[in-house]
Amino acid sequence: MSSVAVVTGSNKGIGLAIVRALCKQFSGDVYLTARDPGRGQEAVAKLQEEGLRALFHQLDIDDLQSIRAFRDFLKEKYGGLNVLINNAGIAFKVNDTAPFGVQAEVTLKTNFFGTRNVCTELLPLVKPYGKVVNVSSMVSSLALKDCSQELQQKFRSNTITEDELVKLMTKFVEDAKKGVHQKEGWPNTAYGVSKIGVTVLSRIQARLLNEKRKGDHILLNACCPGWVRTDMAGPKAPKSPEEGAETPVYLALLPSNADDPHGQFVSEKTVQTW
Ligand code: NAP
Repeated sequence: MSSVAVVTGSNKGIGLAIVRALCKQFSGDVYLTARDPGRGQEAVAKLQEEGLRALFHQLDIDDLQSIRAFRDFLKEKYGGLNVLINNAGIAFKVNDTAPFGVQAEVTLKTNFFGTRNVCTELLPLVKPYGKVVNVSSMVSSLALKDCSQELQQKFRSNTITEDELVKLMTKFVEDAKKGVHQKEGWPNTAYGVSKIGVTVLSRIQARLLNEKRKGDHILLNACCPGWVRTDMAGPKAPKSPEEGAETPVYLALLPSNADDPHGQFVSEKTVQTW
């Protein structure tokens, strides 16, 4: 059975650059996934023109049915998967006029809850020596520092559970809708809080792998790609998408004898203090 790597939200931007790099460096099938099949197939065709072979599967991380259909496909065709890169994400533009409560709900829905749902469905299928990379952001560290002491302590805790994290992320959305998020100790950034969620989720999941699947040698990390020229970040960012893909790809291709990094937040291929 072939090895298989999966990248979420990979029809453009950093995700597409990750797929491009994996097509060159990963010995196995590489799945470019997208919520919109048209945009996904177009990206696959673009890679084909470059002489690269990516496969396509539809995946909308906001849609549990779509996630489960992809899960069943991977189980049936490959008996699991070897590499999972959770890259899909959204960000409101700074000048967007949507109320903060709406921005909080919509941003958390995809970046945190969608990513978590993909993990819930696909992590059990990750094979021994597999790699999982959750694309977070340095913004998560900055937002953490702007949280109340009480929240910072919870997000840095080595014993916080996934349920507790979900409750906190849900509370942020509720507080934002009521306009009391800052009074409740949250920073004034929906994107930042969503990425705190991604980084903390990664720390929890790595701990669970240690507890439940130690012998499987799976490495799971969160990372920041850097500030990258994409539709999300705009044309002024210093890095090309290919440069942005470097750290996620490094984490996805760690050698099978590596024990670390695991459960870390990694930027520029370097472990950061959380
Ligand atoms: P981008 O160019 O806007 O690409 C985002 C990708 O995610 C698109 O393919 C988009 O698909 C997809 N996506 C959004 N919602 C989705 C959903 N519900 N299901 C499936 N796919 C979905 O952004 P990017 O800059 O490449 O960002 C990639 C990741 O890096 C994100 O997690 C972002 O937060 C993170 N990041 C970026 C920077 C930066 O400077 N660019 C910095 C730090 C972290 P559509 O085309 O259908 O919208």
